Amino acid sequence: MLHFHNTLTRSAEPFVPLDPEGKKVKVYTCGPTVYNHAHIGNFRAYLFEDLLQRHLEYRGFQVERVMNLTDVDDKTIRGAREKGVPLAEFTQPFKNAFFEDLTTLRIKPADAFPAATEPLHIARMIAMIAQLIATGHAYQADDQSVYFRIASFPRYGKLAHLNLDELRPSGRVSSDEYEKESIGDFALWKAHDVADGEVKWDSPWGPGRPGWHIECSAMATGMLGDRLDIHCGGVDNIFPHHEAEIAQTECCTGEKFVNLWMHCAHLMVDGRKMAKSFGNFYTLRDLLDKGWTGREVRYVLLSAHYRLPLNFTFEGLAGARSALQRLDAWQQRLADLAGTAQASTPPPAAAEDKFAAALDDDLNISAALGALFDLVRETNRAMDRNELSPKQARGLLDYWARLNTVLRLEPEAAAIPPEITALLAERTAARTAKDWAKSDILREALLQHGWLVKDTKEGTKVSCTKG
Ligand code: AMP
Ligand code: ZN
Repeated sequence: MLHFHNTLTRSAEPFVPLDPEGKKVKVYTCGPTVYNHAHIGNFRAYLFEDLLQRHLEYRGFQVERVMNLTDVDDKTIRGAREKGVPLAEFTQPFKNAFFEDLTTLRIKPADAFPAATEPLHIARMIAMIAQLIATGHAYQADDQSVYFRIASFPRYGKLAHLNLDELRPSGRVSSDEYEKESIGDFALWKAHDVADGEVKWDSPWGPGRPGWHIECSAMATGMLGDRLDIHCGGVDNIFPHHEAEIAQTECCTGEKFVNLWMHCAHLMVDGRKMAKSFGNFYTLRDLLDKGWTGREVRYVLLSAHYRLPLNFTFEGLAGARSALQRLDAWQQRLADLAGTAQASTPPPAAAEDKFAAALDDDLNISAALGALFDLVRETNRAMDRNELSPKQARGLLDYWARLNTVLRLEPEAAAIPPEITALLAERTAARTAKDWAKSDILREALLQHGWLVKDTKEGTKVSCTKG
């Protein structure tokens, strides 16, 4: 039985999908605000969601996931204005970069990536706001903007566990992000301001643009229906964003919006949240430029439990590199031993059960990786003693492939570049001529190019050492 920690109840709950057949799972994940390149803190959130989706699928659920792209909000408008280009022109390169980064990190794409500015979604936002006004949950203020009346929704504050009586909400907040101390009626529709330039849509309340929160309510319900199984994000989304999403959506639908709220803790740098505004961030591209691979970044961000803050360090990345080298060496050793063996003897069920059961327990990745590395150690020892058969090696490789539907930590299936093929041919010629010294020099040269050469009974084998 799967159990996940629900932010709403602050406890681990058994996971039961809304689907009466218990198969389909609807997941909404807040996506990036495309005003710059996402930093690896953002990717921590997307990787936790990736692990969640892949594990649910491993357990046989059919996941339908939507991730929105926030392509209109205070930040994107400011960015476009500073650059002096139209909003869509400003956000497009960041959307493209985001998809490239998802691929580099092996994150499974969502089924849909709706963008807030798509006419269909804008129309839905306007319809929801109109409904909220008609039912007394929203009002147009003197500044012509439309605000959600939080006093009309007694459950406001429940997700963030706030006590509204103590906080004494007063006034209104027009910015998308605000602190708990300045709690108040929040903007659903922002009346056009000169600073917004050309960014505006017509509405019953005059020209303007949607607030960030209504964007997600409209896209989530528009694409997945009134009720969702799981809604995810980073902990900074809990308040005000997700709190606002619940209020807006539930006042429109009269239904419980989300069954399970899951939030990942922050990626930190020296005890502080990694954030653009603090200037303490790395983008994925920064790390690739420094010679790290997407797989290494994936490992480092994935290998800590999602609810524990993770401190980002280069030692951590180096640790990921050596852990992956260990896994690669194990895989190579098993492949050498398995040779051409087709039939496979599966590893003891307990090993796989331990891995999956750990993830069933609120995605306990540390315990899951612990179980994997135990198996690596044991089977390496068995190979040292020549106690592992080719069929067992094949069984372990099959097992590793199954785990990698969740972990996606397998080495890159590297194509051998022509210059490497040439060096290999030269080395084979040297070996045929029994010129061992030259053969060794060439082996060293290949290694320096990142290719490990092994001479086995079946012939020379080559593998790429760069993940
Ligand atoms: P944003 O583009 O700021 O809306 O953030 C996109 C996602 O990344 C949200 O789910 C945030 O909660 C998450 N996020 C932002 N900063 C961090 C961080 N330092 N660690 C983990 N998640 C973060
Ligand atoms: Zn959102």
